[in-house]
Amino acid sequence: MGIPSKRRTKQQKRERASHFALVKIGLTTCTHCKKEIIPHRVCPFCGYYGGREVVKMDKYFKKLERQRKARGQSKPKEEKKEEKKDAEKKK
Ligand SMILES: [Zn+2]
Repeated sequence: MGIPSKRRTKQQKRERASHFALVKIGLTTCTHCKKEIIPHRVCPFCGYYGGREVVKMDKYFKKLERQRKARGQSKPKEEKKEEKKDAEKKK
């Protein structure tokens, strides 16, 4: 790594940092399930787009599960947490 040849002043540092802010994305509501979604995308909750079902979500989740098993990966962290909670409730 190179070594900075000159000191950056407070102002230079702050001027550079003025472009670091994250921009909030505009969300719309799904016409089918009324949840907030990214515009011009298929709804990730119900699989609807433009008022009709484009992706069959139950089939889609089964496909994901199969792909995960084929890759030898376990379930994502969130599902594991939920399973733990369920197991604790049963006790
Ligand atoms: Zn939806």
